[in-house]
Amino acid sequence: MNTATTPATGTFPRGVHPPEGKRFAEDQAIEVLPSPPLVLIPVQQHIGAPCAPTVKPRAKVQVGDVIADVKAFISAPIHASLNGVAAKPVKTTLPNGRRVEAIPITAAGEQLEGRALFEDVYGGEWPRDLSDYEPSSISQAARAAGIVGQGGAAFPTAVKLMKNAAKPVDTILLNGAECEPYLTADYRLMLEAADAIICGLLLAGHATGAKELLIGIEDNKPKAIAQMKVAAEGTPVRVIPVQTKYPQGGEKQLIYATTGRVVPTGGLPLDKGVVVLNVGTAAALARAVVRGKPLTHRVVTLSGAGIKTPKNVLAPVGVSHRALIDFCGGLQDNAARVISGGPMMGFTLGDLDAPITKGTSGITILTHQDVAKAEETSCVRCGRCVDVCPLNLVPTRLALAARYRAWDVAKRYHLNACIECGSCAFACPAQIPLVQLIRLGKAQMPKS
Ligand code: SF4
Ligand code: SF4
Repeated sequence: MNTATTPATGTFPRGVHPPEGKRFAEDQAIEVLPSPPLVLIPVQQHIGAPCAPTVKPRAKVQVGDVIADVKAFISAPIHASLNGVAAKPVKTTLPNGRRVEAIPITAAGEQLEGRALFEDVYGGEWPRDLSDYEPSSISQAARAAGIVGQGGAAFPTAVKLMKNAAKPVDTILLNGAECEPYLTADYRLMLEAADAIICGLLLAGHATGAKELLIGIEDNKPKAIAQMKVAAEGTPVRVIPVQTKYPQGGEKQLIYATTGRVVPTGGLPLDKGVVVLNVGTAAALARAVVRGKPLTHRVVTLSGAGIKTPKNVLAPVGVSHRALIDFCGGLQDNAARVISGGPMMGFTLGDLDAPITKGTSGITILTHQDVAKAEETSCVRCGRCVDVCPLNLVPTRLALAARYRAWDVAKRYHLNACIECGSCAFACPAQIPLVQLIRLGKAQMPKS
């Protein structure tokens, strides 16, 4: 493993500075959504093989029961997030446009509510001494709990935590950057569930044998930096403030900023001995290992000038975007666009009844004023998109190749290496929808 480094700089080359928008929800303590009457739980919420339903229609289920699973290596089971009765699977459309099967569960009987639910998920004591836990049992617990990356990528966490002699891990890096504008779910978790996050980080280190345990947090979150430092006292965990710049939370960007290691185009963090986990994922790992509880709930930010009362909400996986919006008082009259996720990497939502998944970090509601922009014009060859691309790609070429289905050009210019951060589109004075074209190209390009 080549882990040759330059000194860590606390930042990365290129990137952009979009308006942060954090002010809407950053001071809103996490609220718990009252149990909804219905959830619709998609059977594919992760990168990898889709699950198949394992629960029969009309079966009674309890929160945490497995309702869908698959034997594939890269996969994660799906669990009930309500006490209730399952129904026959139906088709639903995820925010990214993918049509998937989903299992409806209608609430029945008592549910854990309010503060009791918050305490069940994040509260109480979290151990620091992990000697009782077998390293291999940690990835097994992550698999059984259906944990996937909560920062949006939704990669199964168990796979990252398995020991692999050919690819040893020396560093676990928690991503607390939350560079996406408007979103504050990770920020609130760092303030309100710091001990669970530290416990998850220690467990990830124990599972992989990594000795370097880091948390990278953007320097526009001084309270979170302070809170995590206090929680990390007496442990080997180091909290590293990084520059506020987008996309600081990209895996390769955060690795470079905190360790100086360069993950090359087409490479993975593991190639440089690093596993990156989101802070919410770490808290979910702690809960899975210490309490044997699966990933059934997550924190979602509702933010932007287009929502009546911005909030950070602990919600069951499978609840509709509409139910969360209603919990925040509904949309403002001037709301123009509902985005699942943040404005840079999220997906404009066509159907508010679409369910949230384990990877849904937020819902951003923009107003007419926010989205008003000039018409698309021709490329003026200014090179700004190239100047800002954190991966050193040539976005204008990629978008053109995608638009005209020139797949040989797309491959030559590493279309698949694009992380869809949207920096190029943000910087483009011609308003060319570069990232949308690239995203479409990635979906349409033949695999071989
Ligand atoms: S080409 Fe991809 S990685 Fe580069 S700025 Fe555009 S969206 Fe981001
Ligand atoms: S930023 Fe826009 S106008 Fe400038 S080179 Fe890139 S695509 Fe063309």
